[in-house]
Amino acid sequence: MASKKDRATKPAEWAPETQLVHGGALRSQFGETSEAMFLTQGFVYDSAEQAEARFKNEDPGFQYSRFGNPTVAMFEERVRLLEGAEEARATATGMAAVNAAILSYLKAGDHIVSARALFGACRYIVETLAPRYGIASTLIDGRDLNAWKKAVRPNTKLFFFETPSNPTLELVDIAAVSKLAHEIGAIVVVDNVFATPMLQRPLAHGADVVVYSATKHIDGQGRCLGGAVLGSKDYVTNHLQEYLRQTGPTMSPFNAWVMLKGLETMPVRVRAQSATAAKIADHLAGQPGVVRVLYCGRADHPQADLARRQMTGGGQMIAFEVEGGKAGAFALQNALCLIKISNNLGDAKSLITHPATTTHYKIGPQARAELGIGDGMLRLSIGLEAFEDLVADLDAGLAAVRR
Ligand SMILES: *Cc1c(COP(=O)(O)O)cnc(C)c1O
Repeated sequence: MASKKDRATKPAEWAPETQLVHGGALRSQFGETSEAMFLTQGFVYDSAEQAEARFKNEDPGFQYSRFGNPTVAMFEERVRLLEGAEEARATATGMAAVNAAILSYLKAGDHIVSARALFGACRYIVETLAPRYGIASTLIDGRDLNAWKKAVRPNTKLFFFETPSNPTLELVDIAAVSKLAHEIGAIVVVDNVFATPMLQRPLAHGADVVVYSATKHIDGQGRCLGGAVLGSKDYVTNHLQEYLRQTGPTMSPFNAWVMLKGLETMPVRVRAQSATAAKIADHLAGQPGVVRVLYCGRADHPQADLARRQMTGGGQMIAFEVEGGKAGAFALQNALCLIKISNNLGDAKSLITHPATTTHYKIGPQARAELGIGDGMLRLSIGLEAFEDLVADLDAGLAAVRR
């Protein structure tokens, strides 16, 4: 019979909830219950020989917190287990993760194909920054498999997309697009923030690299910025690792500690938030003043079949459009008491934002029209409050729209 210890040595076989509580824990000689925060820049060696061995990679210990730190390592191992990836690396922010995942892999002369429905800063990296260094990019409608095919060039090396996208919750078929990418020798990088690792497993559908803004559901309580990149051993050791070590977008041990503790409760939070979001989406869809509701878990989502195939839940993000354009959307936001006006998401607090004047202001009216971001559209991130209180707040907001 397996002893307790034997069973405890197989964290890869634990259910996600168990991995997120116990996975990656490194207990110090004091035997602390909760993971320790190692706020240190450097590490002390027992001898000159040990220092030499560390720098030759012959001794597995830590050297300097830009390269690695025990608290950050615990966070990395915990997300790695959850995602079922070979390797994981933490970064200072979600954008540092996206930037490093893309730029560490490419060089001048390469070409990116990307869905155009992207978080504003992701779009900047693909559309503006990469081309400045000789990496061309083509932005397409990610929902259309033919558009991916047509955009491919002989030098295409990387596909990038978010699914569901921000804020219109457009989906990309991860399996189909990954198959196409692999046929032409390109890798697929997926920004999985909106779905969360609880509701969608891009690697299992064929993607090569997954990126997260840990700022969102992983922290889950609106405190720290952070990010993560997950992929194969080959990708991380031959591309990502050196880029991160030498350019320094490192996650601080403090933030890693907050994220590590956030991971413990993420399944409970995401499940509760998604259950409330599904009910809120249904409620909104029946209200006067609401033009349309977009929610991945609703049968009227334009890609409902795909949502069912590649996601295990509808998530906690809702987009909806109200009558009266910008004036209607502003009236609703200004009448809210409980739901806060904030462009963040994945928080315990419900947050609402008007993409046309905030997150998607900079891309301009033409790009917004292309993405279906109307002046009356609002993006709602459902928190952990009671459904009844959120509905009362939204109903007061909708009454203001019709006034
Ligand atoms: C927030 C977000 C990012 C950027 O993350 P930061 O932690 O703010 O840098 C990237 N992609 C998506 C989809 C996001 O929602």
